[in-house]
Amino acid sequence: MAVGLIPHNFAALSRLAVRSSPLVSMATETSSCDYLVVGAGASGMSFVDTLLLHAPEPVSVTLLDKREQPGGHWNDAYDYVTLHQPARNYGVESTALEAFTQHPEKLASRDEILDYYRSLLSRWGEAGHRVSFVGGAAYDFGSASYVDASGSRVGVDASKAEDAQS
Ligand SMILES: Cc1cc2nc3c(=O)[nH]c(=O)nc-3n(C[C@H](O)[C@H](O)[C@H](O)COP(=O)(O)OP(=O)(O)OC[C@H]3O[C@@H](n4cnc5c(N)ncnc54)[C@H](O)[C@@H]3O)c2cc1C
Repeated sequence: MAVGLIPHNFAALSRLAVRSSPLVSMATETSSCDYLVVGAGASGMSFVDTLLLHAPEPVSVTLLDKREQPGGHWNDAYDYVTLHQPARNYGVESTALEAFTQHPEKLASRDEILDYYRSLLSRWGEAGHRVSFVGGAAYDFGSASYVDASGSRVGVDASKAEDAQS
């Protein structure tokens, strides 16, 4: 792991792997960043949050997900599904989920969890960080690229690639 992590979601983060980015090939466009994070579920979001908190100097991050919005598998959950643990103990390092729940005594709903992950994207931006979230983008590690909404293949030239797929 490239940075110190103090996450609430230890189980998810234990699967993270940092790779050196392979050479970009077959792409019609190229974007550059310091960190490419593939997967905007609990693992990827926790990684980015902790990276931004502890990086000794500003970093640029591209965060990709096949899904249109961050939150990972919670995007597909039934609306009656809830978290299993209290919101005060869940979330990324900078901001516990509790701050986004109206009823912290209840287990958080899917919608509260998704609102929380979406709000983190804007909070990171307000704090002056350069995080580009690209939704609806399946990353191909073999070619170090993804196809964007217009159909163009975009290569990502990153010094570190973070694999946060489930
Ligand atoms: C009902 C329920 C209750 C739970 N309660 C708790 C709890 O109380 N506390 C707790 O800690 N955990 C809880 N969990 C578990 C927790 O939700 C999961 O462990 C965690 O959300 C998994 O996050 P993840 O980022 O590892 O995976 P995911 O949520 O699956 O996210 C991975 C993301 O990677 C993306 N992806 C994969 N491959 C690519 C690719 N090639 N290109 C682009 N994107 C890609 C996927 O689209 C996905 O969005 C609960 C789970 C459920 C189902």
